[in-house]
Amino acid sequence: MNSVCKSNDRLDTLVPYDPKYLPAEAFLAANENADDVSETIRNAIEARLSNVSLNRYPDPLANELREQIAEANGIKRDQVLVGNGGDELLFNLALAWGGPGRRYINLPPTFSVYAQNARLTGTEVVEIPRMQDYSIDEQAVLERLSQGDIDFIIVTSPNNPTGNCASTDFIERLLDASDALVMVDEAYCEFSQTSILSLLSTHKNLVILRTFSKAYSLAGVRLGYLMAHEEVIREFIKVRQPYSVDSVSQIIGSCVFENRDEFAAKIERIIEERGRVYDELKSIDRVEVYPSSANYLLFKVPDAAKVWAKLYDRGVLVRDFSTTPGLEDCLRVTIGRQEENSLFLEELRRILVIEEQ
Ligand code: PMP
Repeated sequence: MNSVCKSNDRLDTLVPYDPKYLPAEAFLAANENADDVSETIRNAIEARLSNVSLNRYPDPLANELREQIAEANGIKRDQVLVGNGGDELLFNLALAWGGPGRRYINLPPTFSVYAQNARLTGTEVVEIPRMQDYSIDEQAVLERLSQGDIDFIIVTSPNNPTGNCASTDFIERLLDASDALVMVDEAYCEFSQTSILSLLSTHKNLVILRTFSKAYSLAGVRLGYLMAHEEVIREFIKVRQPYSVDSVSQIIGSCVFENRDEFAAKIERIIEERGRVYDELKSIDRVEVYPSSANYLLFKVPDAAKVWAKLYDRGVLVRDFSTTPGLEDCLRVTIGRQEENSLFLEELRRILVIEEQ
């Protein structure tokens, strides 16, 4: 047959997720950790990898890593689920709590994958846009939730790409407002040094998402995890692909998690650099920078798409959000190595201050 029947109607308006990766001298577009894992960790990984049975399927639930995560967070192993990056777990959320006739509250501007997953699974997306300063419209969210017809909501803290956190008080009120499942996406929590973990023991409708891709330098490996009540985890297990986390990733994750103390100083350095880049951006005329608790900064600049292109011509890749509703004229820069951040600042200043005069 030289023809093929039509795919699912839901795909008609879907545009594939595009991270817009391009090669660059200073790659500051994907919120990764600019530093790879240390020599010590790499050696530990290599030693363990030499014994891995590549002919055997992996442990479906990555129990060793699950155990380590549970112990470190003072919860039971059954309260943890490891996935092929946070992305897989976000998709599983839409499969398990979404679907035709079900509703998800989205708080844009936020991580675009959430709404994409909802649409893909036929879930109705209820949009409650953020305020002018990107804080959550708390009153509107609580009122909408209390109508009792919402199945799940995702609160990103710190939010991507705006960088601000949700308040613990608000999340607690959210958890008490209805029995909707509340996912708190803590992909960047190591940079805010805050977590909602303490609410887990009292709220069955809370699920926390974390990732190894950011603070823990493993974006290339694809590992994320959930922490929730064991009954919630059981529902996620029903929809997941049994072997989504391969043996090699499980070993790498275990080695990194075992040595996670090593990352504290690196995280501290990123937080310090974030402060420096923020102060410098603030001092440039015509730049409006938003405070951030993550490893990136969102800033507004006139003719953002043009500025993005000029930065790229000079070897600096940042992320252009200027066509996203609510983020007009916004660019996002990841905090990279000191010299990369300095190159970014120098080129931006040159574009905006020297060349525009
Ligand atoms: N949540 C947020 C807010 C993110 O920004 C990302 C990555 N961009 C993820 C989850 C997923 O990360 P990963 O799949 O790499 O674990």
